[in-house]
Amino acid sequence: MSEYLLNDEQSKDSINNIKYYEAVNEWVSTVEHFHSSLKSRMPRYQNFINAGIDLLNIILEEIKQLNKNKEPDRKFVYFALSAPMPTELEKVIQILEYAGLVTQDKDISKGTKGVFQRYMIHLGKIIQYNALAQGKVKTFEYISECLQKTKTRQFKRFVSKSLFTEEMVAKCKFELPPCSSCGNQRTFDEAKFCAYCGAKLESASLFLELIEQDISALPLTSKRVEMIKTGSNIVIIKDILMDDNGVELKKVKGIQGYWAQKIKDYAEEFIGG
Ligand SMILES: [Zn+2]
Repeated sequence: MSEYLLNDEQSKDSINNIKYYEAVNEWVSTVEHFHSSLKSRMPRYQNFINAGIDLLNIILEEIKQLNKNKEPDRKFVYFALSAPMPTELEKVIQILEYAGLVTQDKDISKGTKGVFQRYMIHLGKIIQYNALAQGKVKTFEYISECLQKTKTRQFKRFVSKSLFTEEMVAKCKFELPPCSSCGNQRTFDEAKFCAYCGAKLESASLFLELIEQDISALPLTSKRVEMIKTGSNIVIIKDILMDDNGVELKKVKGIQGYWAQKIKDYAEEFIGG
């Protein structure tokens, strides 16, 4: 973040606490702005992007509580999520990662506790949230001491299903498709006609029904459907739509670039995309 802290007129000596926090805020707002700008680039995932903000705040709060009254060399900036995660959580995390709000570290396998995926939270967020839980006097010397002494083996462990509750999963609904005629987003979910060009809109319930359908509804042979189901965690149309880069699909034997793209196209056509 030094680019936010040092400009031409400033030397290292002139950086005081106020400037330091100003730079941190600028750093964080740049990353957060990018994260929320993804809503227009990936309109289907708007709810997942919002859920990411809520999730991050919950994790930051937990970490802050954990860091209270701990010595600088005992502070936490890492967290870990139990695998496998609900698909919705995976997507939420992927988007946070893409924006730089979390960074994935190595997976950790801890005997009876199972497999966990470890992440580091954006350090600017850690500082801004006071997740290192400093007392009243906040200095950047203290922050940098804590951060330098951070150990990757100190991480807050979360059971994915308890952290990302059913209620949060339910919030991660796909945004309805835009008007197929002019491409504008719907002004409200139940709209029957496009507010921009007047074209008739597909009903919301039909869309939600479609994405919940089994992949056997796609023009694929039953053998291929079976192979996809046994070779990946894809079962319904929504699973294909959520598998952005075809990572899951490519796990299936015999499905490479061409077929992965083809199947994705089938799914998009199926929902009228
Ligand atoms: Zn329209």
